[in-house]
Amino acid sequence: MPKYWKTICLPTMPALCATNNVNRLAAPAEAPLYLDFAASTPPAEEVVEAMIPWLRGAHANPHSDHWHGRRAALAVEVAREAVASLVGGQPDGVVFTSGATEANNLALKGMLSPSGHRRNLWLAETEHKSILEPARFLAANGIAVQRLPVLSTGVIETDMLQARLRESERTPGIVAVSHGNNEIGTLQSLTALAEVAHSFGHLLHVDASQSAGRVPIHMEDDGCDLLCLSSHKMYGPAGIGALYVIPELLGELQPLLHGGGQEGGRRSGTVPTFLAVGFGEAALLAKRRLVEDQRRSVQVVEEFLRALRQDGSPFTLIGHPHQRLPGHLSLRFEGVDAEDMLTLLAPSLSVSTGAACAAGELRASHVLRAVGLDEGAAGEVVRLTFGRQTTPEQANCAARLVAAARDRILERGSR
Ligand code: PMP
Repeated sequence: MPKYWKTICLPTMPALCATNNVNRLAAPAEAPLYLDFAASTPPAEEVVEAMIPWLRGAHANPHSDHWHGRRAALAVEVAREAVASLVGGQPDGVVFTSGATEANNLALKGMLSPSGHRRNLWLAETEHKSILEPARFLAANGIAVQRLPVLSTGVIETDMLQARLRESERTPGIVAVSHGNNEIGTLQSLTALAEVAHSFGHLLHVDASQSAGRVPIHMEDDGCDLLCLSSHKMYGPAGIGALYVIPELLGELQPLLHGGGQEGGRRSGTVPTFLAVGFGEAALLAKRRLVEDQRRSVQVVEEFLRALRQDGSPFTLIGHPHQRLPGHLSLRFEGVDAEDMLTLLAPSLSVSTGAACAAGELRASHVLRAVGLDEGAAGEVVRLTFGRQTTPEQANCAARLVAAARDRILERGSR
């Protein structure tokens, strides 16, 4: 349990117990400002509106062969088209899943097999656990898995990839990379990585959970063969995501889940219509708003950094200085324990020290270690991620709060 949990919960607990109104936990009168959009984004208002009819009267199983079922199926197909269009793909390439974790598992376990013709996997040291863990499983089951180092900016160097692939066994395989890193925000150059992977006969699988809807992605232009998306990272509902597979590979993908044969047999299980509709609406919105969202994110981040500098707080930006996800900051405050910073900020700001999935872990983040930070330095890194709703005024206020927390911790330490 994170240390700061107590600070948030204890003052409200008696009130909660007295009224037995648990919703107060979800929406206290003075909620801290949410700056953890990389962990999850709130569904957009348009998304909620689009989903409601499918939770009410329009409800049906989209696989039922009657009027209601066919109406739901049509809504799922419209959503599929919107999701495909966000990444410049065709609707047939979209396999709906429960999220990006399942999509990453499906991509890797569904395409690699020790008895099949793809038997190699390369992945960066900085990958998300939903790639690292299936890779560990595959390694224990006869797949040759190799980790790729990254530069101190978090970038995977193409020359290094080329050298690694050249010295490896020539059996085809997959190079798996996150487009935008969830912890440090670094963006990879997909086209360059795809070119190298393809020149050795390998596929490129891209985890676009963090980048989709924030920067342009195009399956063909970027050279992606497989790509995963997560709805709750792009203002859609949680509980749904997708694996996009290029048409040439669809026949090769082996399912993880067997059952009713939904999603062309690639992912059995009833497709939740309301979630698919919400995801589709989120994809449409993301595509329509991409340029505006990018512009606003840059403005908000600039304002945050300007205010932080004005306050005289020294910090180091972790990750690449420019080639990064819009609205994503990973900052190190030397001499300041990040957990202490979170404790002080908790009543006013919801930020994190790293990935939400790794929260509460005592080990230093593998991503921060991979970009060259030692255990101590890795414990001084705070992640602030801004969203569509964040205003420059809020960013300014957040910077001043962060600066004040930093000063307080350093003062305490020097006493
Ligand atoms: N990949 C990345 C890069 C992520 O940031 C996340 C979520 N933290 C996931 C995969 C898993 O996404 P989901 O919650 O949809 O399973």
